[in-house]
This record gives sequence, structure tokens and C-alpha cells, in this order.
Amino acid sequence: MGLLPESRCCSVSGVRSGCDLAILNGNIVTMDKRTGRAEAVAVSGERIIGVGKNSEVRRLIGKGTKVLNLRGKTVVPGMIDSHIHFVDYGLSLTRIDLRNVQSIVEIQEKVASRVKAASPGKWVLGRSWDQERLKEKRYPNRHDLDRVSSENPVVLSRVCGHICVANSLALQLANVTKETPDPLGGQIDKDPETGEPTGILRDEAMSLIWKHVPSPTKADLIAAIEAASQRALSAGLTGVHALLRDSSYVEALQEARATGKLGVRIYMGIPVDLLENLINLGIKTGFGDHWLKIGCVKMLLDGSLGGRTAAMENPYSDDPGNKGLLLYREEKLRQIVSKAHDSGYQLAIHAIGDHAIELALDAIEEAQKKTPRKDHRHRIEHASIINPDQINRMASMKVIASIQPAFVTSDFWAIDRVGKKREEWVYPFKTLFKKTVAPAGSDCPVEHLDPLAGIWAAVTRGGFLPSERVTVDQALYMYTMNSAYASFEENEKGSISEGKLADMVVLSKDPFKTPPDKLRSIRIESVIVGGKVTKPRRS
Ligand SMILES: [Zn+2]
Repeated sequence: MGLLPESRCCSVSGVRSGCDLAILNGNIVTMDKRTGRAEAVAVSGERIIGVGKNSEVRRLIGKGTKVLNLRGKTVVPGMIDSHIHFVDYGLSLTRIDLRNVQSIVEIQEKVASRVKAASPGKWVLGRSWDQERLKEKRYPNRHDLDRVSSENPVVLSRVCGHICVANSLALQLANVTKETPDPLGGQIDKDPETGEPTGILRDEAMSLIWKHVPSPTKADLIAAIEAASQRALSAGLTGVHALLRDSSYVEALQEARATGKLGVRIYMGIPVDLLENLINLGIKTGFGDHWLKIGCVKMLLDGSLGGRTAAMENPYSDDPGNKGLLLYREEKLRQIVSKAHDSGYQLAIHAIGDHAIELALDAIEEAQKKTPRKDHRHRIEHASIINPDQINRMASMKVIASIQPAFVTSDFWAIDRVGKKREEWVYPFKTLFKKTVAPAGSDCPVEHLDPLAGIWAAVTRGGFLPSERVTVDQALYMYTMNSAYASFEENEKGSISEGKLADMVVLSKDPFKTPPDKLRSIRIESVIVGGKVTKPRRS
């Protein structure tokens, strides 16, 4: 009692009694160019104190050392998802999952069974339907939902999160009628004959309904963070750049951290409507610690490719006359970007279409010209349809391209949207990787959060535009070093290097020796965060 734990590497008396954790006989993929591969790692406290040969690390083993003999297993740095709606994902785990449904009838069945279990009046929420996968090849509408729910308001979001369908009761509670005008940046779909809303709401129009859905309580949010943490760890993520909806999410993350319910490190993406609050408090990008940090200021500039709401320079090939939509007028965009830039924040601008990307780059360039900053690391989120000139511009302006590899395999219809001529502008991951800093993420719950599925998608591209495939090494670099760089933490995370945080993942197989189509089946055997070893829960 009262003595310092013996397991500290350097005890107070100066006698080495061993490191806390020694990893031996590993195939250690350090992602550190100076080291390359190693056999062993020594950890003290939450940091790596040695990386090298078994014999070197063995010398650091003492009485209190926990030894992990890997018998040749592969270890990679803890992976970091650079774009995830982490808390929303946790909340979504409680909603009806429509990701794999294949017909409107199936949607009705799922809603009906949830309605049966809900008390009258309680909102029934679902997510991830995709009309492209539905037998009927059309959007579900209010009448489809009314057939199975008249007493409960129902809202189901499309897989992109930019479109939802609501039943009549939900529309009525939100007072959306044939007279309701489209809000700026949104659209209420209306029946061409009757003028009545069909139930489909796009982009900003969704907030007409969401305003009426009761907000999750603090306990709901903390439970969501805990659930999302478990899923993230099980997938091999030790850190995420979490895009947050409002201040209640920031508060819940803080409390989850204080009560030991936060399992992964969080770099927070603060919604731009809280920018004034941040400025008033004097809190800047980077405030916090290695578990919870104020990160970028996130703003949405356009919609999605799936919903044909991404802002394009030229019309959609499968919807002539439609060029998508912008959520900000150009002047307003420039104002906000300047303000955030001048006040020292990192910006993360959601821009999917080439028009949105162009405007975002214009605004950043103007802000940088007025107030030069050495290391702003502003980010474009998605950069989905991007031409070669824009990539060069991003490179010379040192703007980060935060990409989501899984999009290229899910958006199998993307080529219909943009046509053959713009084919090479669709998710050009390899060019982005080579010319800019490109961190990778999932945009979960839009896609599964599994980074190995992301690596598989980046490496195979589902066969689409093979010239833009990246290697396993490059894909892993995106999920580790580049994600760390995108949060200004390349000296703390992203590789297995002496002095860095001891965040590592043990894999069931070596991804460098696995055929590309099998990368997704690699399992996570253990996850180490800050030197603490956990076995993932299978779910
Ligand atoms: Zn997103």
C-alpha cells in the first residue's frame, strides 16, 4: 500500500522494473517509414517506448510486465476514421435498419412490427433504404407508410441521409401541406396532379419534420456513445473524427469520457452554427486532450449524388436540367469560411459535386489570401466528383481530401449520374492520395464503419475505374497516418513509433498477403488503446 506500482518502466528509485506491456513475435506493420516492419513493441503507460527486435524488447521486460506473444500475427497502428457521424450512428443502432430491404412491402412489414411494439403517438424512425435496391424502383411514399401506421408518426431516412420519407401523421404534426413552400436548400416533393406532399423530403426540407421528433435525452446520447464505441473498437478503430449535430453531443461526449464510457479517441467536428459560441469562448481547433478534442468546424455545402442534390458544374446525365443544389449562397459561404479561417479554426466543408468543390476552394483561397495561415489543414469532405484541375488546386492550396472508400463500391449507379465523359472524375482515390493528403473514413451510418471494408473498397473499387485503385499500403496509410495528419496529430498517432500513443490492432491475417477480395474477411483479434488490451465483442 502506498507504493508506486512496480510496473512503471522507470520507477522512482531509478531501477528499471520493466515496461507495462511487451508485444513479442509479431509481424508489426509500423507505418513508420524509418522502421518499416518490426518484431516487438514495448509500452509504458499509454505510450510506446520501444519498437524493434524481440531481443531489444525482451530487455525491457520486468516483474510487472504483461507479455503478449503474437506467434507471428500481424499488428497495424490503431485505425482512425476521418469522417463518421459517431453519435448518430450510436443512436441509429436503435432505429429500424432498412439497409438490405428489397421492396416497399418489406419496408412496410418492418415498420408494422415496430409500430406494434410502440405506444400510440411514439415516433417510429428508420434508416438506410435505397430505392435503387427496391423491386418497385421508386421512392416509398406517405401512402405506403399510412397503410401500416396511422397512429404513429413515421420517418425513414434514405441511405445517404439527405432524403427521408414521412407518413401522413408525421407531415400533419410538422404542418407540411400542399401550401408549404420549399425551404432554402431543400425540397418538398409534391404530387404533380394533386399538389399534395408525397412524403419525400429532401435536404433542408427534412428539418421541417426533424424539428418535431423528440430529441434524445442525455442518457440516450451516452448510451449511443457507448454502443458506438464498442462497435468501433470491434472494427479496429481506436480513433474517429466525429461529426456532431449540436452542443448536446459535445456535452454527452464529455460525460461519457468522464464516466469511462468513451472507448475510442474523438476529434470533434463542430457544426458551423456553433462557430460564434466557439469564438466567444476562445476555444480553437486542438483544444482538449488525446481522448476528446475540439476539431474542425463542419459545414454542408451541397447534398448527395444518390439524391441528385450534389452541386454540379454541368447537369446530371440521368436528369438533364438538374445541377443539384447548394445550401449556402456564395457570399454567405465566403463570409463564414473567412470568419472561421481568420479565427484559427480548421474547416471541413462537405462538397460532393464539382461545383460545390470549386466554390469551397474559391472561398478558402480568398480567406487564405486575406489572412495567410501557415498550416490551416482545411478539408474538403467527400470530394466525390472532382476534375484534375481541382485536384491540382487542392494540392497547391494544401487542402486535405477526406474521402470515403466504401462509396465507390456502394454507388454502383454513379456513372449513370455523371455519364461516360465525367467517369474519371468519380472518386479518383489514387490521384487524390498521390497529390493531396487523403485521410479515409466511412461516413457511417451511411456506410458500415469497418475500416477493413474501406481498405477493400479502396483497393478493389468493385472493378470501377481500376486505374484509381490504391495498394493495401496506401489504403492503410489513409486510415492511419493521413487521418492523424488531418487532426494535427501525426506526432501522436497513426504509426507504431517510439513516443507515440500505444494504439494498435492485432489482425487475424496479414493484409499484405491476403488476396484483395478477401481483405474484408480479416478479423480483429485484439485492440490496444493507450496500452490497454481489449478483445473485441463479436456482434
Ligand atoms: Zn457525413
